[in-house]
This record gives sequence, C-alpha cells and structure tokens, in this order.
Amino acid sequence: EDGDTLLSVDSIDTHYGESHILFDLSLSIDRGDIVALVGRNGAGKTTTLRSIMGLTPVTNGEITKGGEQIHRREPHEIRNRGISWIPEERRVFTGLTVEENLRLAAHSGDGAQADRFEEIYRRFPRLDERRGQDAGTLSGGEQQMLAIARALLGPETDLLLLDEPSEGLAPQIVDDVAAIIRELNEEGVTILLVEQNAEMALELADYAYVLETGAIVHESPAAELATDREAMESYLGVK
Ligand code: ATP
Repeated sequence: EDGDTLLSVDSIDTHYGESHILFDLSLSIDRGDIVALVGRNGAGKTTTLRSIMGLTPVTNGEITKGGEQIHRREPHEIRNRGISWIPEERRVFTGLTVEENLRLAAHSGDGAQADRFEEIYRRFPRLDERRGQDAGTLSGGEQQMLAIARALLGPETDLLLLDEPSEGLAPQIVDDVAAIIRELNEEGVTILLVEQNAEMALELADYAYVLETGAIVHESPAAELATDREAMESYLGVK
C-alpha cells in the first residue's frame, strides 16, 4: 500500500441475517482515481457500497479512510468524513422542484452553501435551466445529474460512491453522465463506480475489480480487463 490510498477495504465479511453475502473482500482506492466495481446481478456490488457507507455492518475485517477506521461508525459520521453515496434508485424528491431538492440536500450540511449552489448550477447547466421544474418530470439523465448534485452538497465530498449511474438511461445520456463523472474526477473527486455496464465503467476507470458471488475474482488496471476478452466473457458475459 502506498501513501496515496484514500479508502481501504480490508478482508471484510458482510451478512444479511443468516445469509453470508461478502466474503473476505478487499479493495483499495487511490486518491484521485476512478475505480470500477463490476460483476453480474446479485454479486454483492450494492452491498459493498452499503458496507463502506456504514449501512450494512461488516462482521469481519476493517474499512479505513485516510488511515482512519470507519467501519464501526454511523452512516452520518462516514458522510462527514467525505464519503457520499448515490444509491441505484437515485433518491430525488419528485413533487419538489430542482431547487428545493438542492436546498434539502444543502440543509444537512454546514450552512453557508449559497456559493456552492451557484457552483452546482455552473457545473450542471441543465439543472440551472430547470430550477423551478418538478424533479419528477426530469428525464432519467437529468435526475441522475440532480442526484449527483445533491450528493455533492452537504459535507465536502472527496469520495463518491456511484451505484449504477447508467441504469435505465439511453446510450447518449449514458455518455453525458460519463462526461460528468470524468469532469468531477478531474476536479479532484475520487470515484468508486459500481456498474453492470462494464463497457462504460471500464472506459472511465483507472482500476477495476470484478465481484462474483461476494468475492473479488479479478483485479487489474481497467484497460487491461477491457481488452482481456476471455476475462470479459467469463466474468461479465460480454462477448
Ligand atoms: P444488482 O446489480 O442486481 O443490484 P449487486 O451486485 O448490487 O446486484 P447486491 O444488491 O449487493 O448485489 O446483493 C447481493 C446479494 O445479497 C444478493 O443475493 C441479494 O439477494 C442479497 N441481498 C441484498 N439485500 C438483501 C437483504 N436486505 N436481505 C437479504 N439478502 C439481501
């Protein structure tokens, strides 16, 4: 491990009741990287994110951020340490406007967020144009943007956990979302990207892990996995 490790998941196990879901899972995320976690349905990708976020307890092993143990902390304490999670369901409030959604997210932060609002609107001009629009009437891509924007408000974020940001989006919208992820990363946000769309994830990522029934079965630079046809087919069913 070098000094650049931002998050380290070290030999964790996770259970839901009697079911053992994650087995001796380790992964490491360097500061500034985009790391992809790919794998088939039910492999345990979401559970890994929930474990990092403190939502599903780990029964063994440890998770550290910047060297500090976080795996026994409450989700809000983990959030206060710069980790933000965007669940698969995106969690925008339909029935509230874009602006109201952002205000609610900012409210949980440290106050004095007005500047950050403008920063968010500069970064997401599509949201700026739609400040007064009901979030329920946004397109899937716009809702994903709003979810990302919400995740960036509140406590300062240096690690973003994204769960299937491409899900349900048309291909050209997936490209838009990919561009946003790349831009955020260029601005210094480290990203753990969970995807079933392995092609999209591996194109964005520096490093990749493949999860299969709760265990890591492959890790390598993302480009190496993307060009390994045998691995792509056997782990991910991509021909
Ligand atoms: P998907 O892409 O389908 O969401 P995933 O890789 O994210 O899959 P998880 O959602 O982490 O997988 O699920 C891993 C396993 O844990 C699955 O077998 C799932 O049925 C099981 N599981 C998930 N949540 C619970 C729960 N609350 N209680 C019991 N089992 C669960």
